Amino acid sequence: MATHISTGTAELRDITKMERIGAHSHIRGLGLDDRLEPRETSQGMVGQAKARKAAGMILKMVQEGRIAGRAMLFAGPPSTGKTAIALGMAQTLGPDVPFTMIAASEVFSLSMSKTEALTQAFRRSIGVRIKEETEIIEGEVVEIQIDRSLTGATKTGKLTIKTTDMETIYDLGNKMIDALSKEKVTAGDVIAIDKTSGKITKLGRSFARSRDYDAMGADTKFVQCPEGEIQKRKEVVHTVSLHEIDVINSRTQGFLALFAGDTGEIKPELRNQINAKVGEWREEGKAEIIPGVLFIDEVHMLDIECFSFLNRALENELAPLVIMASNRGKARIRGTNMISPHGLPPDLLDRVLIVSTSQYTSEDIEQIIKIRCEEEDVTLSPEALAILSRLATDTTLRYVLNLISCAQMLAKKRKAEVVSGEDVRRAYDYFFDEKRSVQWIQEVGSTLVTEEDNRPSGKSK
Ligand code: ATP
Repeated sequence: MATHISTGTAELRDITKMERIGAHSHIRGLGLDDRLEPRETSQGMVGQAKARKAAGMILKMVQEGRIAGRAMLFAGPPSTGKTAIALGMAQTLGPDVPFTMIAASEVFSLSMSKTEALTQAFRRSIGVRIKEETEIIEGEVVEIQIDRSLTGATKTGKLTIKTTDMETIYDLGNKMIDALSKEKVTAGDVIAIDKTSGKITKLGRSFARSRDYDAMGADTKFVQCPEGEIQKRKEVVHTVSLHEIDVINSRTQGFLALFAGDTGEIKPELRNQINAKVGEWREEGKAEIIPGVLFIDEVHMLDIECFSFLNRALENELAPLVIMASNRGKARIRGTNMISPHGLPPDLLDRVLIVSTSQYTSEDIEQIIKIRCEEEDVTLSPEALAILSRLATDTTLRYVLNLISCAQMLAKKRKAEVVSGEDVRRAYDYFFDEKRSVQWIQEVGSTLVTEEDNRPSGKSK
């Protein structure tokens, strides 16, 4: 069955990538220099030098296209920048390389099977860069490039015309093919086509030394319209993900599902058809595959079935780079009774590159707090900064970063521009960190409702 596969470009052009704001909005990249050495503080990144450098090396492989079947794991204590570094990698890759971020627990909460949810995440992370015929908008300058290999010759010719009329463009294009195959034109010759009569004239080589010709590059023969019009290159290239192509072509969902985010399950037959079509486009030179990055946070939350899916999916020719993060040490692999490092099965661990993150120094913490304050437009008094830095060592960096805006609100209430030490102390009193919350439960435990453990005795894990 001949199927028409749509890329849905027109519709997708309007969907802007969700901006990553919030806790990591200060991260703009990995902060590495050209030799991949981490700068102390750069692009919102502070410290964690080893992990940033390792991330930079992996990125280099992504950029060189040497990543199929690769996976890496950021392992380290909570709040040590695992997510921040993964986002820094995404920023470095730029908007054209797909980057998908999921929390492992999401796989269980969607209205679809676990493997379907993972398949969608994988396909979201594979871009298809599509070159489409130039769309002519009235008044625009277009260029047609004709490969002479089509006509049995080897050179390439370019025709630049200023018109909005596709018929004229095709007509002139065809005439140019004729001209290049029939006439004995060699590199450097310039020919002109009379728009109305179609007559082809060889121009003197002096034209080739004109400014217009220089702009076209040495290997290019220039075909000039009678009016001698403007030359400008225009190419329409856009990137969509395999998942977007799936959804747009899924009869039950349609492209509106992309806005709602609820795409439901997609039939494997449709995916096969799409893979075949994209394969054809690649062969015809119309499309290029851009393997992206899939980031799976709290990966220890996946279960054994998901892990075996991952193992298989990584073997696929169209696999993105899979980056996982876990703050667990030894943990039970969900769905089994096996205890393993980071809660990952040994066969998966064996194929991932593990990058560890470590606790920050107090200087690093102070620097990160300062960066966040700049980002949130908060001015701290020296005392407030000192208290927050100290607190981060006793609690977590994330807790302290959350306190900043709370303390600012308290400062605003008393109409102060600068957050004082007292504002921070009061915010600390209002909001518990995890440790104090546990302590509080122990103190008032008997007054809280406690969930019963209904499991038969002796079966506790
Ligand atoms: P968890 O294991 O709890 O998920 P994590 O290791 O993923 O933690 P992040 O969420 O990346 O930790 O970090 C906590 C906060 O600190 C975030 O706001 C993050 O942007 C910021 N942060 C962490 N590391 C850095 C860093 N090296 N430079 C700048 N900001 C950082």
